[in-house]
Amino acid sequence: MCAFGSREHHVVVVGGGFGGLQAVLGLRRTAVEVTLVDRRNFHLFQPLTYQVATGALSPGEIAYPLRAIVKRNRNVRVLLAEVADFDLDARELHLRPVEAVPAPERLGYDTLIVAGGSHYSYFGHEEWQQHAAEVKSLESAVAVRSRLLAAFEAAEVEPNPAARDAWLTFIVVGAGPTGVEMAGQIAEMARDTLRRDFRTIDPRRARILLVEAADRVLTSFPPTLSAKAERSLQRLGVTVLTGRTVTGIDAAEVTLQGRDGGAERIPSHAVIWAAGVTASSLAGRLAELTGAERDRAGRVTVEADLTLPGHPEVFAIGDMVRARDPRGEPVVLPGVAPAAMQQGRYAASVVRARLRGRPHGAFRYRDKGNLATIGRAAAVADIKGVRLSGFLAWATWLLVHLWYLIGFQNRLLVLIRWSFSFATHGRGARLITHAPTTTEQRDG
Ligand SMILES: Cc1cc2nc3c(=O)[nH]c(=O)nc-3n(C[C@H](O)[C@H](O)[C@H](O)COP(=O)(O)OP(=O)(O)OC[C@H]3O[C@@H](n4cnc5c(N)ncnc54)[C@H](O)[C@@H]3O)c2cc1C
Repeated sequence: MCAFGSREHHVVVVGGGFGGLQAVLGLRRTAVEVTLVDRRNFHLFQPLTYQVATGALSPGEIAYPLRAIVKRNRNVRVLLAEVADFDLDARELHLRPVEAVPAPERLGYDTLIVAGGSHYSYFGHEEWQQHAAEVKSLESAVAVRSRLLAAFEAAEVEPNPAARDAWLTFIVVGAGPTGVEMAGQIAEMARDTLRRDFRTIDPRRARILLVEAADRVLTSFPPTLSAKAERSLQRLGVTVLTGRTVTGIDAAEVTLQGRDGGAERIPSHAVIWAAGVTASSLAGRLAELTGAERDRAGRVTVEADLTLPGHPEVFAIGDMVRARDPRGEPVVLPGVAPAAMQQGRYAASVVRARLRGRPHGAFRYRDKGNLATIGRAAAVADIKGVRLSGFLAWATWLLVHLWYLIGFQNRLLVLIRWSFSFATHGRGARLITHAPTTTEQRDG
């Protein structure tokens, strides 16, 4: 460890997601040593995990190895490990091995930047998770893909009409951008892609229900765009159920409660969870250690320069934080990639400014707008007051996502895949994968 100004100043960045990666890239030409610690060896482009879950893209097309991203930056090293705890007084992280890969127990730092992200919360009903999968990680997206495709397979061999209908009922919980995108993609898969694949069932008869507790879809968009999105969903064959709260999920059915208090039970074996998120547990630990406030979503409150109270050497950024504005009021920024990326770049710029002995201002978020896609040539966009829908919004969505995708090869592959799918309605990655059975292991 050393003081600012020395060649060996060691910056440890936790998390190679959107925020952490920008912090690392912002320091790659600075005279500091950077260690990027992540429990995954890849950067995941979460905005497209739902396309993996619906067979439109393959996992490798939306993930990129962290080592490959920084291979030319000699001052950056990558460490595959999980952060288990912080010792802020000793300026050390406690690490846990991942995949049995040995990792040092402790890692010292001069500056620490924590970007651990968030995960889906089941509103205190963790038991729902086994029946209602989410698409936040690559592993869960692949599991959802198998579950969706397996439901069509089960319906094909089910002789009982009521049981068959249950297999062909898909329920998406939460009508934010991810829920809307998932519902739209499942509808397109059923109506277009799988249309001719089965002999007994007609996949076009599948029911896709999108459940939302609020009174409209996409509540972060202006009401006019929500209404347009809802119409596009209906055109695709999605039934939008607003004003309904989920009160139960098990292997056989979902129970909904309407505003009038009446309960409705819907048999289904394919439920996708796209409702509330909660901050990484790292946020809670940092709050405990520093006395910083936490909000209801578990986010730790950082100062206007994104550091923790009493610890100017520790930054926390991205989905796991809310930051104070220059007047000291806590502000929750949208849980989107641009917010995390801007905070990552800002943290790197503060480190650079301190090294040069220069002052720096408070973090300022620049709102780049809101985008959500619904399906083929259907999307909504609200960019600095300019409201777009239909093809124009969809083309904007496409370009923005290609632009932010890491790696030239991935951009090219995704562009080819999308062009091909657009022309043929196809989805090349419609694979049901599972852990090998004992027979498979024996047979090799
Ligand atoms: C399904 C889905 C769709 C989305 N769509 C969009 C979209 O269209 N547009 C948009 O702007 N945003 C979208 N988002 C939100 C966006 O992905 C997040 O806001 C963004 O990823 C936040 O960045 P972050 O750096 O805070 O966290 P993340 O990108 O989640 O990165 C966190 C990193 O920390 C690592 N990590 C966590 N805990 C530990 C630990 N203990 N030890 C070691 N490593 C750890 C993780 O492995 C991960 O690499 C979407 C999110 C989801 C889930």
